[in-house]
Amino acid sequence: MAGVQFADVRKSFGAFPVIKGVNIDIADGEFVILVGPSGCGKSTLLRMLAGLENISAGEIRIGGRVVNTLPPKDRDIAMVFQNYALYPHMTVQQNMGFSLMLNKAPKAEAEKRVKYAAGILGLDSLLDRYPRQLSGGQRQRVAMGRAIVRDPEVFLFDEPLSNLDAKLRVAMRAEIKELHQRLKTTTVYVTHDQIEAMTMADKIVVMHDGVVEQIGSPLELYDKPANLFVGGFIGSPAMNMIKGRLDPENSGRFITADGTALPVANAPDSAKGRDLVYGLRPEYILLDAGGLEGEVIVIEPTGYETHLTLKLGGSDLNCVFRERVNARPGERLNVAIDASHVHLFDAEGGQRLS
Ligand code: ATP
Repeated sequence: MAGVQFADVRKSFGAFPVIKGVNIDIADGEFVILVGPSGCGKSTLLRMLAGLENISAGEIRIGGRVVNTLPPKDRDIAMVFQNYALYPHMTVQQNMGFSLMLNKAPKAEAEKRVKYAAGILGLDSLLDRYPRQLSGGQRQRVAMGRAIVRDPEVFLFDEPLSNLDAKLRVAMRAEIKELHQRLKTTTVYVTHDQIEAMTMADKIVVMHDGVVEQIGSPLELYDKPANLFVGGFIGSPAMNMIKGRLDPENSGRFITADGTALPVANAPDSAKGRDLVYGLRPEYILLDAGGLEGEVIVIEPTGYETHLTLKLGGSDLNCVFRERVNARPGERLNVAIDASHVHLFDAEGGQRLS
């Protein structure tokens, strides 16, 4: 096993910079997820780590060794792709053992490794099947099996679940996490899905437009987003963002652009007199707690909790109530805001002030 470092890594395609100086330190055995919207550069970063794309500047290290110019086969990594890329004319066993055969591993050793991986992934009874005889989830497992048999220093995953339906995706999320807990191999995983990142990662790297916006554990990013981008990207339904300023007479009040007063606890001095964004997660709007009155716009029962859009002053707010709510569009509800969980962001630079 080995750690991985990106040190001021840059990449341009022609004159167009897509990775603009990225620093990431991945510890030995860590499960790190690179997440961000389409086009932010996460796949390019992974492909550079794999050796499938060259590096314009900076250094990538695996196990302390600079690999910038090392060919992919010498990096001791194994990659699992979105489309699995299984060989259709080979059985599961042959697909899984193929790289070992290429490397001229002794037959008994290869069989042992395939059997071990098949055991871990629950593929024992499917070894003689062809890919066309497998479900999407089973194919994805074979693709992972092919990576496991190589016993690499680092696993790379590029959106491995995006071709699966919603239910299977949730099941495979848990399987991959369990696999990592078992093998403890350093893993770098790319996705655009923040829920995948939140549920699976030890550490998340949020990327946007070729730069790292924040690195942290899932709950650090959720509770302490560094800026507006991370606050808005992590969490579903999304954080409410309302423009306004602190009341100059009372820094415990936030006055929105339409004149509504919202509560603030512990506003820092740096927030005074600035254009701000009030960041409020949907679950910190509390039902029947009085104080504020809003109009129900949309109500979405999920069974366990109720998602609701509430018009408060001039803002439509996402709310999540952990109960069943009997209300109709047009009805008025009393709510309160848990001010201790409100964030204030600088409207111009986007950084979080509290
Ligand atoms: P997605 O989730 O859509 O795959 P991503 O975050 O993985 O997005 P990349 O695939 O890394 O993004 O692409 C980053 C940027 O680099 C994009 O603007 C893309 O158009 C550009 N890009 C990627 N590969 C090339 C290439 N071979 N030549 C030119 N531009 C490229």
